[in-house]
Amino acid sequence: MPANDSEWGDAMDKCQANGCREEIEAGAFMCAVHWRLLPAALKRTVRRSFREHCGEQGNSLYLPYLDACAQAVEFVAMHEMLPMDNAFRRAATLLEECIADAK
Ligand SMILES: [Zn+2]
Repeated sequence: MPANDSEWGDAMDKCQANGCREEIEAGAFMCAVHWRLLPAALKRTVRRSFREHCGEQGNSLYLPYLDACAQAVEFVAMHEMLPMDNAFRRAATLLEECIADAK
């Protein structure tokens, strides 16, 4: 089971990249090494969607944030040839289904 599973929902004090155990500032997303790997456009998307959802979970605004995080984790995993499965993608898929059901 990926280490990220049990950590979903906790204060983010570990790098979110798959397989990385680097400690980071609470509220940060990835360690400097992994954050630097991301393309500039993806970094902007993560930052912007984080500002937009402003901590609101479970509404439709949260979905772009989860999706941006999932893309970032998947990008790093691909780069490091690690499995791409991650908690952000699973949460995004669940939320997408909830939103579709609510319509
Ligand atoms: Zn890292």
